[in-house]
Amino acid sequence: MQFKNIIGQGAIKQRLIASVRDNHVSHAQLFLGPTGSGKLPLALAYAQYILCPNRTETDSCGVCPTCQKMQKLVHPDLHFVVPTATTKKVKSNPESDLFMEEWRDYVIQNQGYVDTSSWYSFLDVENKQGYMSVRDAASLLRKLSMKSYEGEYKIAIIWMAEKMRVDTANKLLKLLEEPPEKTVFLLIAEDSEELLATIKSRTALVKIPAIETTAIESALQTRLGCDPQQAHDAAMISEGNWLNACHFVKESEDRKFFFTTFQQWMRLCFKAAYPELIDFSANVKTLGREKQKELLDYGLRIIRNSLLFNNNLAEIVMLPDDEKKFNSNFSPFVSPANLAEIAGLFEEAIRQIERNGNAQIIFTDVGFKMIGLLKKK
Ligand SMILES: [Zn+2]
Repeated sequence: MQFKNIIGQGAIKQRLIASVRDNHVSHAQLFLGPTGSGKLPLALAYAQYILCPNRTETDSCGVCPTCQKMQKLVHPDLHFVVPTATTKKVKSNPESDLFMEEWRDYVIQNQGYVDTSSWYSFLDVENKQGYMSVRDAASLLRKLSMKSYEGEYKIAIIWMAEKMRVDTANKLLKLLEEPPEKTVFLLIAEDSEELLATIKSRTALVKIPAIETTAIESALQTRLGCDPQQAHDAAMISEGNWLNACHFVKESEDRKFFFTTFQQWMRLCFKAAYPELIDFSANVKTLGREKQKELLDYGLRIIRNSLLFNNNLAEIVMLPDDEKKFNSNFSPFVSPANLAEIAGLFEEAIRQIERNGNAQIIFTDVGFKMIGLLKKK
């Protein structure tokens, strides 16, 4: 990770770069800030900057053997402690070292922008809470007591330090108090309240703010290919959280997909286009069960909203303009004469999809029945 890969956070980057330039790298630092602010990417870029032998005034070189190993997170002087729990693979005594392969894949896939809930679901820990055990601290102590491989700094990144158990924290404290030579501890945390006071008092605080909205807006365009309006809207409601922004974009894309698909489907029903309805259902079959259910759910919402339109309550329908217009045009075809039957048809289709029914048959059946029902208004 290089500083140039970090979204926003210009002031923090400057401060970290200056600490290396002025030879003031504090041996234990606490990166404290909200979810989605880029604490881990900053720590990774900082670590790479510290270790890169060809660093410039502003960044690591990105191409030397050290940078290459850092970018793959396999540098022998880079150590991680992360919260873990038992999984299908590790049935007892979980610890970071047992999950390093997964951790590298996960961090690289997400370009460092990660949070505990997606990490836990990546590991498939089910409903368990992750933690750092005393085994993690012992292993770190062992690794740091050895000489660094490349003769320079050793860097330990402790991600989500608030997940340390008390005995873990106490063992780590000894390390922080009498640190091995040329070792930098970068602790990352979100919840200051949950961190032991002793940990806080032995680390230099680097407060990471939420990301500037303008930086999120431009990153959405360059990284996710959003159009300017979509990027602006998602950035405005992201609260400076990159993960939120990505989530909103995905949500709005999903909704757009369900909207256009449902609209297309209903047009075929109005036209009583039997062969096309069969083709439509064959396409829907390829979507997978979750999306099929979501499409039916979307349809149910439009159908129920129709009642609001019919009762002059359009103002309480919360939809983007294009969807609202479609819903308004659709509403005259739903009335007390057919509402219960239409809603029942969709609900039954959802149940059948859940029971692994054949989606092509189910959607074809719903389509054919809708032809008649829409005329029954
Ligand atoms: Zn380099």
